[in-house]
Amino acid sequence: MSYVALYRRWRPQSFDDIVGQPHVVRTLKNAIKTGRITHAYLFAGPRGTGKTSTARVLAKALNCEKGPTVEPCGACASCVAIRDGNSIDVVEIDAASNRGIEEIRELRERVMYAPTQGRYKVYIIDEAHMLTIPAFNALLKTLEEPPAHAVFVLATTQPESILPTIVSRCQRFDFNRLSVADLAAHVARVAETQRIDITPDAARLIARRAGGSARDALGLLEQAAAWGDEITTGTVIELLGSSPGETLIEFADAVARGDAGSVFRLIQEQVDAGADLRQFASDLVGHFRDLLVVKEAPNRPELLELREGAFAALSEQAARFSRQQLVEVLNVLSGLESQLRRASNPRVSVEIAAAGLCVSLGGAQSRAEAVEVEKAQTTQAEAVPVRAAAVQSAEASPAAPPRAQVARTRTRSRSGSGPKPAQPAQEAEAEGAEEARGPAQGRPVPSGAPAAEAGRFVGITEDQWERIRSKIRPTDVVLDAVLREVVSVRLTDQMCTVAFHPDWVVLARKASDPGKLATLARAVGDVVGRPVRCCVMLSSGETLAVGSEADSGPAKGLETAGGGVVSDSAPAAEGVSGAPPSPSREKQAASDGADLRSHPKLKAAVDLFDPKEIRTINS
Ligand SMILES: [Zn+2]
Repeated sequence: MSYVALYRRWRPQSFDDIVGQPHVVRTLKNAIKTGRITHAYLFAGPRGTGKTSTARVLAKALNCEKGPTVEPCGACASCVAIRDGNSIDVVEIDAASNRGIEEIRELRERVMYAPTQGRYKVYIIDEAHMLTIPAFNALLKTLEEPPAHAVFVLATTQPESILPTIVSRCQRFDFNRLSVADLAAHVARVAETQRIDITPDAARLIARRAGGSARDALGLLEQAAAWGDEITTGTVIELLGSSPGETLIEFADAVARGDAGSVFRLIQEQVDAGADLRQFASDLVGHFRDLLVVKEAPNRPELLELREGAFAALSEQAARFSRQQLVEVLNVLSGLESQLRRASNPRVSVEIAAAGLCVSLGGAQSRAEAVEVEKAQTTQAEAVPVRAAAVQSAEASPAAPPRAQVARTRTRSRSGSGPKPAQPAQEAEAEGAEEARGPAQGRPVPSGAPAAEAGRFVGITEDQWERIRSKIRPTDVVLDAVLREVVSVRLTDQMCTVAFHPDWVVLARKASDPGKLATLARAVGDVVGRPVRCCVMLSSGETLAVGSEADSGPAKGLETAGGGVVSDSAPAAEGVSGAPPSPSREKQAASDGADLRSHPKLKAAVDLFDPKEIRTINS
């Protein structure tokens, strides 16, 4: 006996065997029961959704010796002939194979003859959209005046490619992609009849990977069965290079707490297991999409096709992300997916995107790793867009939600080590030394960035800026190296704003350190001759930190090298309570310092910048 593929052996033989298309089945059954058989049907839908199988069941129902009946007997000569594919009254035409010209011509000649065995001649035209125009025209003539005994079923994956004049003569049924639940049940049922041992989770995994196609699901089941005894998720993963759900959950957890170390380990494990990183990225997109759905519709588990208990686990994880973060992660991962199609080194691309997410979602814990990533980025031009998108979208968003901060704080206190400030800057310095002096050179600056539009120096000359940096260099080489990367410097009466490209958020955060801000403010004050506060922002518009006025130099009332006299209005610092990271919030601070101390944004800022002290400034 020759080998027959499982999905062929497992053709639906009755309406009840048809999976996941209840609307189609119900309508067809009603038509048969009431004797209202249409002469032309259009079955539209993705491949593997049962269009041709349904057409055959319909043919059986119409021609069964005990029919027409919604429950063809399966035993009469007609039923057996149709099941075995040798019924004279059921003609299958594959329009894809030869565009159907000969077949349609023959069809036109023969359609007038009465059926030999059953009541109807059923013409099943597969891939009907592939018919040529002449074939369509020939078919149209037949459809205009069909003999009473003729039933046409046009099956197609592209109904929009079929002539409207044909479509209008057909009763149309749209076949849905099968749900994971339907497919999983189908796989389990077929496995049982075929005496294939499979765990429910493995059946569900096969269903997920079949993309809504029963044919593909059974194909996968058959492959998995050939591997050995019981089919487990492990078997399926080994077969398909899929990522187990646990890895996805662990990965998302690591991203939530900004734990780039764990993220790299998980990627390494995927590589070691010989997994396809493109598939891994695609699975991650699916997982974060699930998290977003859980977040948006917490009471609608039916929107997700999950195994029992998985919804609770997902809900728990979804609570660790804000909606905005999930959207951001999905944006980055979707970008990664498309990037991976042409990436020469998928692993580096995945690592860069993942570490970028850790930096933007997790913050301090992963800054050291992020610098490593920045280094990798300079040698991996292909990865820049994703990296930029990752950080940019993250940093352009309003303050990171407290939850991520809390998660990171936990991690930090557990590990007992805070961010390691020296390392990133040294790295940056070492790298920057060989690079072009102009930071904007060779690095893309978003065209919409306000700082980029305004020019690199506003209210300050390049010469002054060089003098500022040369003042800093002897005492703080790290800060000098960081400042090499600014894309713009803007000086107003009391404020010097330095902007970094969002790609260099790591350096911008370094410059945001209160001590560094103070050093910068003193140097700027020395050079321009008046007390100036400093502000660090990204060229995408987000303000990272505003220096304290107490740091603005030179000393109050002194005549300076620039000849100016320090403004009287420069206030002294007072009190000890809060220094939130934006001018507008400072005003709030002035109005109620005590209230501010408990402000969540301040807590978040403290967590983010790890300041040595916090002071209230009244301005
Ligand atoms: Zn029958």
